[in-house]
Amino acid sequence: MDDQPAFEQITALIRSREADLISLTQDLIRIPTLNPPGDCYREICEYLARRLTQSGFETELIRAVGTPGDSDTYPRWNIIARREGCHPGPCVHFNSHTDVVEVGNGWTKDPFGGALEDGKIYGRGACDMKGGLATSIIAAEAFIALFPDYSGAIEISGTADEESGGYGGVAYLAEQGYFSPQRVQHVIIPEPLNKDRVCLGHRGGWWAEIETFGEIAHGSMPFLGDCAVRHMGAVLTEFEDKLYPAMAARTTDMPVVPEGARSSTMNINSVHGGQPEQPADYTGLPAHCVPDSCRIVIDRRFLAEENIADVRGEVTALLDGLKATRDKFDYDLREINLVLPSMTDRAAPVVQVIASQIEKVLGKPAEFVASPGTYDQKHIDRIGKLKNCIAYGPGILELAHKPDEYIGVQDMIDSAEIMVRGLVDILLPQS
Ligand SMILES: [Zn+2]
Repeated sequence: MDDQPAFEQITALIRSREADLISLTQDLIRIPTLNPPGDCYREICEYLARRLTQSGFETELIRAVGTPGDSDTYPRWNIIARREGCHPGPCVHFNSHTDVVEVGNGWTKDPFGGALEDGKIYGRGACDMKGGLATSIIAAEAFIALFPDYSGAIEISGTADEESGGYGGVAYLAEQGYFSPQRVQHVIIPEPLNKDRVCLGHRGGWWAEIETFGEIAHGSMPFLGDCAVRHMGAVLTEFEDKLYPAMAARTTDMPVVPEGARSSTMNINSVHGGQPEQPADYTGLPAHCVPDSCRIVIDRRFLAEENIADVRGEVTALLDGLKATRDKFDYDLREINLVLPSMTDRAAPVVQVIASQIEKVLGKPAEFVASPGTYDQKHIDRIGKLKNCIAYGPGILELAHKPDEYIGVQDMIDSAEIMVRGLVDILLPQS
């Protein structure tokens, strides 16, 4: 569809619903869906169910029973809403996570107040990603109002636990078939990646704990024992001398932002060795012991061009090398979690549709990016086997998880317009 009056109508309708968009965003922010522990999931699903039922959606509340963190105190509730069109056609699904991360320090606004100041709505989750969720709802409702005769279907989901891996949210729903290519054909995740960017996917992640061993002895005679912390020091030296330079030299064709994440990276997440730390009010002195165990957790992010066997093998080869050359060195490696990289093809229909509408609405070509960290696309890709999926939303990436997080009202309006025009491209029969 390329007729100007229809586009003007879309713009006018979205603008006329600005107050509704603002109050919807504020309502969502005021439900404190903190994760951990996973608060108020039922409450936010019920709120969304009331809203979307009024707009003609069939809604389903689904508890991810038995997933990590799910309990009667903190049940993992999700909502899927679907509205059928008038003719057969594809289904466009907007997926937003409803959970938000801890508040943290440094706020000057009420994190669950939803204050509106100078065109910005403040609160934990405003940017990541309740503003994106509200935008997709307003877009879907506006599209339905303007083009009630559409083909196919629109789905909107609000899912739990994205911030802790998505196992009680999108992963669970994908396992139940809610993201199968038979049911859904296009997925847009309104994560905060900036309104002028299409996010194609994310790097992989491999998390593991490495433990070195020693032998306890009196600290005055360390030669009678074996210090596990010194062994770990040797591990870290190997990493510094060999692994880090090798990772830094590797680059990717993935358009990862920020640019520093365009090579392989590894964070040392924690180090624990020797006696457990005492509470801050403990006034005793440490006993004199040689530590017999030291543990680190590594967080290795890898590129689409690397395969997981090599990622693992590179670390274990260094550890095995130490085992062969260093006296009494032994280690254990325990894998904690693995997420493979996910990248949607640039030629995929949902990529092309949203990119072209970004250019038409904002007047400049869309930027294609990939995310340094993972998000729920991994489950839609690996479990759902659905490849036509992007992240596209109005929030500013750098504000996510920060104090005084906000969402810009104009950014939501622009994004909503792009979403409506995307729905027009996909769900209106081309004349
Ligand atoms: Zn998010």
